[in-house]
Amino acid sequence: MTSGTRLLLIGPPGAGKGTQALELSRAFGIPAISTGDIFRHNVKNETPLGLQAKAFMDAGDNVPDSLTNDLITDRLADPDCGGGFLLDGYPRTPDQVRHLDDFLATHDTALDVVVQLVADPDVVVERLRLRAIDQGRSDDDESVVRHRLQVYQEQTAPLIDIFTSRGLVAPIDGIGDITEVTHRIMAALTARRITPS
Ligand code: AMP
Repeated sequence: MTSGTRLLLIGPPGAGKGTQALELSRAFGIPAISTGDIFRHNVKNETPLGLQAKAFMDAGDNVPDSLTNDLITDRLADPDCGGGFLLDGYPRTPDQVRHLDDFLATHDTALDVVVQLVADPDVVVERLRLRAIDQGRSDDDESVVRHRLQVYQEQTAPLIDIFTSRGLVAPIDGIGDITEVTHRIMAALTARRITPS
């Protein structure tokens, strides 16, 4: 498992990770893996995993690491991840970083870059208010959104320091048109000599 690009997208809820993940997935020809999407699919289909995850998601809390790590181990073992992958919304905690590190080391590979989407909390709250109207996601309710932002600040934002110390973080201004933000990301990746093969 050494060819291809392995990247993470990190940023607060509402920063546009899902949208940019799809753009980058297309550009690099790698699967975009969103743990949030996988959990939502399981909740919708009332699988055992979905039943365990639902209460945490509705409250805007992280699903326990053990469940999340098992899910990602299974997904990254799929053949389509052999040529690289993009992770959107994982890792979210220090324990998940350790798990991912172990997984990558076991498969004799490593991350190429961590794209940090930077967005002001007031802007993301407004974006998520609009998404709640548009998509009806139960965790986009305003009080839950504020809690998700707090969970991000407490549990996920510290991961940026970990990845910065490894020289992996490319901070990108996430405010602007979708295409403009995609261009910013692609320019930052090109500057790091990370280009679609
Ligand atoms: P997202 O679509 O990334 O905003 O995730 C929606 C919800 O799914 C989160 O608020 C969590 O409840 C759960 N979730 C997604 N990814 C993770 C993760 N890596 N660790 C724990 N919980 C997660």
